[in-house]
Amino acid sequence: MNTWHGLINSDYRRWLPVTPDTPAISLNEGNTPLLRSDHLSATTGCDVWLKVEGANPTGSFKDRGMTVALSLAVESGAETVICASTGNTSASAAAYAARAGVSAAVLVPKGRIALGKLSQAVRHGARIVEIDGTFDDCMRVARELAADHPVALVNSVGNELRLAGQRTVAYEIVDALGEAPDVHCLPVGNGGNITATWGGYRTYLEAGRATRLPRMWGFQAAGAAPLVHGRPVAEPCTAASAINVGNPATWDGAVAAGEESGGLMAAVSDEQIFAAYRMLAGRDGVFAEPASAAGVAGLLDRHARGALEPGLRIVITLSGNGLKDLDASLRDGYTSAETSAATADVARALGLAA
Ligand SMILES: *Cc1c(COP(=O)(O)O)cnc(C)c1O
Repeated sequence: MNTWHGLINSDYRRWLPVTPDTPAISLNEGNTPLLRSDHLSATTGCDVWLKVEGANPTGSFKDRGMTVALSLAVESGAETVICASTGNTSASAAAYAARAGVSAAVLVPKGRIALGKLSQAVRHGARIVEIDGTFDDCMRVARELAADHPVALVNSVGNELRLAGQRTVAYEIVDALGEAPDVHCLPVGNGGNITATWGGYRTYLEAGRATRLPRMWGFQAAGAAPLVHGRPVAEPCTAASAINVGNPATWDGAVAAGEESGGLMAAVSDEQIFAAYRMLAGRDGVFAEPASAAGVAGLLDRHARGALEPGLRIVITLSGNGLKDLDASLRDGYTSAETSAATADVARALGLAA
């Protein structure tokens, strides 16, 4: 009997900013698989685990925050929620809004969001505005609209509610492993998730459920690495669209997570990201979207530079599902054979002996 009914109905509710009266708008998010990667462990000499956030209901970790944001929006009587998004936030907001019976307005950068994510927002009935600009432009407009109109902003910026939901990933990891890992690697775009994950580990330490904290290793794409360079990037550019952000809304939190934990913030190239993307699908059996592979790319980069001590226990967030961005997958190339429907032809194409 599966007794999991979503974050807000779980033991973790005590750490969410809700009251006993808050309604539960849930799609049974959370409780995602934590898989050991035998080949990454062998390659690095470490004990490497993958937290598969693409297994969330709309296919990314954004659902952890959205269940909280929509539950509270409904409690406060909001009729419309709004967000800026590189794709996954809009997919999640649209789904949770549909479930809650409220409208969702989503602002996305035209031509820069993966089709699967746009399709989710379409099918869940969101009002979609494709803006001729970057994600950062969408973010600015969403904030301005929320300040002047009766719409609730559900981006994680200034929305501690969503970050509180996203903290739960750290609770699940500690509960599964019995202790915090030595290192937690993850992709960084707008900065919310590294901030939330770090906050979750601290909450668990204070609650006595862990006795230590991990080092947080955040990885940005080289073409969109404002936190690495210490200044915004006007024209961010990476094929890993979920982290194509030039001016992260949760800048200070992301930097603090790296610094307070004794961790780091570093850049990886798109080539490294796509190599890791192929490796995850081909070796681990996990189809994660390109941005999700940045944490793996970063770990392998550290290893290649001789900057990785062996023996560490490492958890890597795989932030979203590979099915969201089939363009990226097919662009990356594939081979297949075409034959007639004759069994002998198919056998030949497969190289099977006659
Ligand atoms: C949102 C997102 C990120 C980046 O997370 P931030 O909180 O914006 O830093 C990374 N990967 C995926 C798949 C995402 O949806």
